[in-house]
Amino acid sequence: MKETDKVFSQRVLDWYDLHGRKHLLWQQNITPYRVWVSEVMLQQTQVKTAAPYFEVFMERFPNVFALAVASVDDVLCLWSGLGYYSRARNLHKAACHVVKKFGGEFPRSVARLMELPGIGRSTAGAIASISMAVRAPILDGNVKRVLARHYAVEGWPGQSAVANKLWEIAEQHTPQERLPQYTQAMMDLGAMICIRTRPTCNLCPLQESCMAHAKGDIASYPGQKLKKILPERQVRMLMVVNHQGEALLKKRPVQGIWGGLWSFPELGMNDVLDKRAEEITEIQLYGFETWPSFRHTFSHYHLDITPVKAFTAEEVRGNNLWCWASVISSEWLGIPVPVMKLLSQLAKSL
Ligand code: SF4
Repeated sequence: MKETDKVFSQRVLDWYDLHGRKHLLWQQNITPYRVWVSEVMLQQTQVKTAAPYFEVFMERFPNVFALAVASVDDVLCLWSGLGYYSRARNLHKAACHVVKKFGGEFPRSVARLMELPGIGRSTAGAIASISMAVRAPILDGNVKRVLARHYAVEGWPGQSAVANKLWEIAEQHTPQERLPQYTQAMMDLGAMICIRTRPTCNLCPLQESCMAHAKGDIASYPGQKLKKILPERQVRMLMVVNHQGEALLKKRPVQGIWGGLWSFPELGMNDVLDKRAEEITEIQLYGFETWPSFRHTFSHYHLDITPVKAFTAEEVRGNNLWCWASVISSEWLGIPVPVMKLLSQLAKSL
């Protein structure tokens, strides 16, 4: 390890000892399982949003065995509202893997960890370094930002050449000792000091050697992805309500958006509303009422949703694909956020 790399890691560690976060929920009773779940939750979610989810998740599934024997539906239910639901399905799959293949023990090697569904190199590095003190670098969004600025690395980190360069730097800087603290310190530095807009460079332990700071051009790092125009799709969501004040929900296919979650049945914008609605639900409907459209944006397209409320007088039971959910309390189901919002609007409208 070069002297400059040692200085870098020592400065980061000294800063962490004084200012880093040490009281996050997943920093208590550290185990590979707890670090893994927290890392997956934090992949697309901020700490303050993830924390209550983590707490409930740990109460319900305190270890990898409990998660492995749970049903996917139960896991998705606890994930409701966090988005990117493939993360929850992969967590469940990976838990089954760890129990079956490794007898419930997480492997220590980054390469073996990366064989588990949903675990990339950075997550594997975080699990190995934080919970097992293995010397493994990480490169999550926060760390990418710190390193790209500190070394003025040009280009968007989503490009493999740029990512490779950053991995190389991350690898060189990872110290031989205090691995859990160093990994946490780098994440904290990106989350607390070297933040996306207006980083507080005057509080940064790396200011002296930071190239972007010296150039007075922090905003150029890391390079941005060229913005692409997202396609738009339109759909009508059919909100059928019965006399008990329950709404009819349909289980979505496992593949595709909101895979395996419960949602309203959908109709095309050009479908003949009442005819198509009855064909899909196979029940008689009346009192159709179209609500104003709203937009939900996924990473790869905009979905314009037009809700349509309708009633039925039929006494029909649910099955594996259909269910009747109370519009007031349906938290026992895995439901995507826009559908949850529509359910609460439905409750107010009844
Ligand atoms: Fe980020 Fe500023 Fe520190 Fe450079 S000096 S690493 S830009 S906070």
